[in-house]
Amino acid sequence: MALTRRQFVQQATFAAGAFYGHPITAITGARRIAEEHQQNAAPVDAAAIRKLASGVTGHVITPDAPEYESARLVFNRAFDRRPALIVRCAGAPDIARVLDFAQNQNLPLAVRAGGHNRAGFSVCDGGVVVDVSGMNRVEVDASKRVARAEAGSLVRDMDKATQRFGLATTMGGCPTVGLAGLTLGGGEGLLMSKFGAACDNLISAQLVTVDGRQIEASQNSNPDLFWAIRGGGGNFGVVTALEYQLHPVTDVLAGTLLYPPGRIPELLQAFVKVVAAAPDEMNVVGGVLPSEQGGRFWMLVCHCGDPLQGNDLLKPLRALKPQEDKIRVQSYLEVQAGAGFLSAPVAHFQTDLFLPELNAAAIATITKATNGAPPNTKVLIVPLYGAVSRVGLSDTAFSLRQPGYELDIVGLWNTPEERAASVEWVMALRDILRPLAHGVYVNQLGETSEELVRTAYGSNYTRLVKIKKKYDPENVLRLNQNIKPG
Ligand SMILES: Cc1cc2nc3c(=O)[nH]c(=O)nc-3n(C[C@H](O)[C@H](O)[C@H](O)COP(=O)(O)OP(=O)(O)OC[C@H]3O[C@@H](n4cnc5c(N)ncnc54)[C@H](O)[C@@H]3O)c2cc1C
Repeated sequence: MALTRRQFVQQATFAAGAFYGHPITAITGARRIAEEHQQNAAPVDAAAIRKLASGVTGHVITPDAPEYESARLVFNRAFDRRPALIVRCAGAPDIARVLDFAQNQNLPLAVRAGGHNRAGFSVCDGGVVVDVSGMNRVEVDASKRVARAEAGSLVRDMDKATQRFGLATTMGGCPTVGLAGLTLGGGEGLLMSKFGAACDNLISAQLVTVDGRQIEASQNSNPDLFWAIRGGGGNFGVVTALEYQLHPVTDVLAGTLLYPPGRIPELLQAFVKVVAAAPDEMNVVGGVLPSEQGGRFWMLVCHCGDPLQGNDLLKPLRALKPQEDKIRVQSYLEVQAGAGFLSAPVAHFQTDLFLPELNAAAIATITKATNGAPPNTKVLIVPLYGAVSRVGLSDTAFSLRQPGYELDIVGLWNTPEERAASVEWVMALRDILRPLAHGVYVNQLGETSEELVRTAYGSNYTRLVKIKKKYDPENVLRLNQNIKPG
């Protein structure tokens, strides 16, 4: 029988208490992040800002500038922050100057590329934003199958540039996500079962360290840093460019299936079977959407191999009579342009859990939760298998290497009432599922705590702390899923 929302939240509170050994506090993850962002905010010296503005090639945007209001916005409209200045950097020397300025002025420092961070880390109140979004050139060497992208490039910039040559690399499923934030945290996408995560395709990166040095991270240069930035996020320096391995990808068999409401357990079980049998070429993402008649199952498929083989693999899901079947052979670029679940900026709270299996208990919990869920909520189910799961756990900082299911639980809102309902629902489902979880994915977390960061990195955490101590001992870069240097 479906639980009422109150029963569901009570059950969640109990489950979370049992897991952590302490009751849930009233402080939400979002509020903790707000406190962190305001740390050390101090009045900013106007003469120092003028000096900085005259010393950079890029553009300094202060609250009196006409573009300030749009420049401070991030994709997640839950974060309405007012930095003291935003510096649209033109290159590494600008970034070094801004890093120096923020440290001299003792100001909080946020780093922004695509502005899509779930936890709003790329904007801060009263501090400085290093904005690399204007640095967005992508160059492709088709003969070597390598692309070099400046750090402000978006997923769509990379996809467009590489598809001209019939090439691609794993990028996220939303065209406006920044490839820097995406890759530094890991980078999941529709090609990951065939070619690994975005970070697995990284050949090298150029960075500016907090002490202003311009360095390279690759297998041969600063290999410790290269290991850390493949999953460890923006903790170690500001990246100016990234170089990726490309692969031949042209047309794919791809699209969505949408099923009638009220059949979640049966469809999730079928989904699990499809995932278990999927070859590397076939990547699938599931979604559970609320409706008045119960949860609806939705699925996105991308098969980058022989379409006949892809169609065979889809037979069990098609036999379950989807109400809508939009799977067809299409260009990879078309799929990538429409793959995102959220196509426009919106206020939301999202959290993330990694489950080694989508077992009967998890399926029952998700089914109960989506019966009577607020309308603006969703559970995205991203299975990890194939190439992304064959990389060794300690080969990169990105730690979701065991096959399993990453769950993104999200609630959107347009009004304060919707906000309360959405956030409460997301937290309740998260807390009930947490005992089944074995990790979290930093890029999809709209909340933070030291415990979550440790959970995200597992046995890689200690090594990350050592590398953080070496490259950012004062924790200048702390507005992120923060690895504390001690
Ligand atoms: C609609 C949507 C769809 C998404 N889809 C996917 C998906 O398919 N797969 C996936 O894996 N993730 C996905 N994500 C999550 C996404 O990967 C993260 O939110 C990521 O942080 C976004 O990167 P960004 O550059 O756009 O964000 P920003 O907010 O600009 O940056 C996020 C953080 O990355 C770090 N950072 C950014 N640029 C630099 C730099 N140049 N140097 C050092 N550090 C830097 C900073 O710590 C910064 O706070 C999605 C997010 C959204 C909102």
